[in-house]
Amino acid sequence: MNLDLIRKDFPILETQVNGHQIVYFDNGATTQRPLPVVNAVVDYVTHQNGNPHRGAHIFAISASEAYDTSKEVVRDFIHARSEKEIIYTRNTTESLNLVSRSYGETHLKKGDHILITIAEHHSNLVTWQRAAEKTGAVLDYIYIDKETGHFPEEELKKINDPRVKILAFAQVSNVLGVEFDPKPLIKRAHAHGAVVVLDGAQSTPHKQIDVQDLDCDFFAFSGHKMCSMGGIGVLYAKEELLDEMEPFLMGGDMIETVEEQTTTFAELPAKFEAGTQYVEGAVGLVAAIKYIQAIGYDDIRAQERKLVTRCLEGMKKLPFIQIIGPKNPEEKEGLIAFEVEGVHPHDVAQIMSAEGICIRTGHHCAEPLHHYLGVNASCRASFYFYNTEEEVDYFLDKLKDVRKVMGYDD
Ligand code: PMP
Repeated sequence: MNLDLIRKDFPILETQVNGHQIVYFDNGATTQRPLPVVNAVVDYVTHQNGNPHRGAHIFAISASEAYDTSKEVVRDFIHARSEKEIIYTRNTTESLNLVSRSYGETHLKKGDHILITIAEHHSNLVTWQRAAEKTGAVLDYIYIDKETGHFPEEELKKINDPRVKILAFAQVSNVLGVEFDPKPLIKRAHAHGAVVVLDGAQSTPHKQIDVQDLDCDFFAFSGHKMCSMGGIGVLYAKEELLDEMEPFLMGGDMIETVEEQTTTFAELPAKFEAGTQYVEGAVGLVAAIKYIQAIGYDDIRAQERKLVTRCLEGMKKLPFIQIIGPKNPEEKEGLIAFEVEGVHPHDVAQIMSAEGICIRTGHHCAEPLHHYLGVNASCRASFYFYNTEEEVDYFLDKLKDVRKVMGYDD
């Protein structure tokens, strides 16, 4: 992997802040878009733009082609069986809402259990609170071991309860950085017929996904966290589930025939994609997938592992830094959440920002996890393949001084 060449594809990384070159460590929130992705979108908009699946003119056809072929690329990317199983949404959040509304709220009954983990992002938590409220189902949690960040066996046994009808969890936590090995959990849930919803927002950018091998029932991810444009996300679902589900949105292009009082719905995946499709987003997603595949996940992971290792080693030398979740680089998928003793995370972020360093602070949309861990808020540095070890060193150097800037003597 030629990092110098790769970084040329990201002119935004040349941005200067107060005389310092930007260090972008907020990739868990959103990644930057490389020129091949930007150019693919510009090329589509400049030469091919039309409204897909409507009309017979040249641009209706080129838009339809761009849109429909993008589904083949996404299907292949996550190894789904059929393009019918690939639904475009705005992002992971919308994908999870689609599952919760169109599957959860129509299949759950009073007394059923929805099982999620305490480490969930709000998009995989508030959605299920609502489904529980609407149906009378019970929302139950799997709690992590506070020291290791993993699930103790006692907690995992909750999955075996036959009242659990839906198990939903993030493959990689956006705070702990841990990957929860999904396959054994999925097997347990399937043993008594529960369906499994995987939130792949933080896993898909960093590792090869194979939905057939995972055997999950639903899988959600966002384009913008993997070099694509914002505003496009994916919901994968097994065809047999989508077939029996109600559409989430009603409108154009999701119908077969419409009478005054009745409608029959289109075939999959159109049934779940009402309204004019976001073709620019689909084109950008394809370009992002091709970009990532050209680099290869092996190299992506090797670079991230290098950065995480160096950063953790440096942080461990700073006695006032508390790392959240596991401290072993092998267990961190490209991100490190931490606290600086005696300094509010927002102050840390402000000080870092003045030095050109972008990190995230707050709850990271995982408020119940922060409460459970007894942490008010935290900082998070999250990496992607275009980050460098020099950037990590610069970050550590500035982190060392944060307490001094706040008036501490050390
Ligand atoms: N799940 C996880 C684990 C996430 O990290 C995020 C984004 N922070 C989401 C879901 C939601 O993604 P989006 O905002 O793209 O819908």
